[in-house]
Amino acid sequence: MKYHRLYEIVPEFVDEIPGLDTEPGKLYIRIGEKYTFLKHLCACGCGGQAVMQLGTPEEHGWTMIYDGSHISIHPSIGMTNHECQSHYFIEKNKILWLRPFSSDPSIFDFAVLGNTIQDKVDHR
Ligand SMILES: [Zn+2]
Repeated sequence: MKYHRLYEIVPEFVDEIPGLDTEPGKLYIRIGEKYTFLKHLCACGCGGQAVMQLGTPEEHGWTMIYDGSHISIHPSIGMTNHECQSHYFIEKNKILWLRPFSSDPSIFDFAVLGNTIQDKVDHR
C-alpha cells in the first residue's frame, strides 16, 4: 500500500492489533494485562509495519503519553529494518521527522524540530 509521507497520526484503541487491514495515519494501541502493544504503518509512505511494546528503557520499550485525544511516544521511532530508514518522533499526534537512522545519529535536525524535542533529546 502506497500513501503520502505523513505529518500526523491518530491514536485508536483496539481489542486486537490489526493485520493486513492496518491503515496509514492510525496508531493502534492494544492495552493488555501484561503488555501494551502499538502498531502503525511507517509514516514515510513505504508501507512498512512498526510494532512497538510499552516498557522501560531496559526492556527496550517505549513510553506513551495520552491526554484523551493526543498521543506522544518516546523515544523516537527508527525504521531500521526497512529500506527507508525513517526516523521520527510522535509528539501530540504530530510526526516530527528526524534525519534517517542510517546517517550520523548524533546530528538531529533541530531546525525542523524546534526546542521541544531538543530539550527531550538533551535529557535522554
Ligand atoms: Zn518507511
